[in-house]
Amino acid sequence: METKVAIVTGGNRGIGFEIVKGLCQKFDGVVYLTARNEERGQQAVKKLEELGLKPLFHILDVTCEKSIEDLAKHISTHHSGIDVLVNNAGILDFDKAISSYEDAKKLIDTNFMSLLTISRILYPLLTNTARIINISSDWGLLSNIRKQVWLDRLVKDDLTVEQILEFVNEFLNAAKMGKTAFFSIAGKYGDYKVSKVAMSALTFVQQRQFREEGKDVSINCVHPGFVMTDMTKGMGDFTPERGARAPLYLALEAPQSLKGSFIWHDCHHVN
Ligand code: NDP
Repeated sequence: METKVAIVTGGNRGIGFEIVKGLCQKFDGVVYLTARNEERGQQAVKKLEELGLKPLFHILDVTCEKSIEDLAKHISTHHSGIDVLVNNAGILDFDKAISSYEDAKKLIDTNFMSLLTISRILYPLLTNTARIINISSDWGLLSNIRKQVWLDRLVKDDLTVEQILEFVNEFLNAAKMGKTAFFSIAGKYGDYKVSKVAMSALTFVQQRQFREEGKDVSINCVHPGFVMTDMTKGMGDFTPERGARAPLYLALEAPQSLKGSFIWHDCHHVN
């Protein structure tokens, strides 16, 4: 039987590192810790090796198409497909509640646009029963958005990727004009909220597409909790290990029939 493959993006620290650790302990196959920086990635691998675990490493910058293509080439050369893909890499400058246009663009490119490139390049390598886990946030719930037109459109059963892009671009255009305050609840961290709402919406659209293609692939998103990592400047309710619990549940234990759902950190389903 072919060896199964799991890949985690942004695996060198924080929640991603703990997801890699948990997969190394329990996943029946090889686990790729990926990171955008070779040195940071190799250091993380070393830490896990010291615990007796054996992750593999591959460099991956999720904002770089060539980097995603290189990973795809590596996987198709050495393996028969991808069984688990955890889209964990993400950024947020916790000190900046209101971002400049340039910062908002960079954040949305990393947290959301990268998922589209990953879908185009890596999804063709998914096995028929693959699991995709998108690390979203409670800020990825629709209730974080204020604009009624988007509240109505983003829940439609026939929502398209193009419409999600329209949503994201409308926010970025507002950011260019310094008028994002009205877009998200409380007006703060609007770029991050938009990126995670877009991620959640994409999860539901892509699940529908897999179903229409007759594939048994599952794609779900998860709020890991408020987790003490570098992103939150060490603030939070949970350790990174605890933050990895629900993502690991989706990767390893959830029934394959769980599809297109938003899961809370305690593994209960929000939808
Ligand atoms: P960290 O800041 O600790 O880790 C983020 C990881 O993403 C790092 O490994 C970082 O790599 C990587 N990364 C950033 N940009 C890229 C890129 N372009 N390509 C590849 N990797 C990249 O954050 P957390 O562990 O807290 O966050 C992980 C995920 O969980 C994120 O998606 C975040 O939005 C989400 N989340 C976190 C919450 C929390 O309370 N912590 C709450 C809800 C959601 P590098 O070391 O090179 O910078």
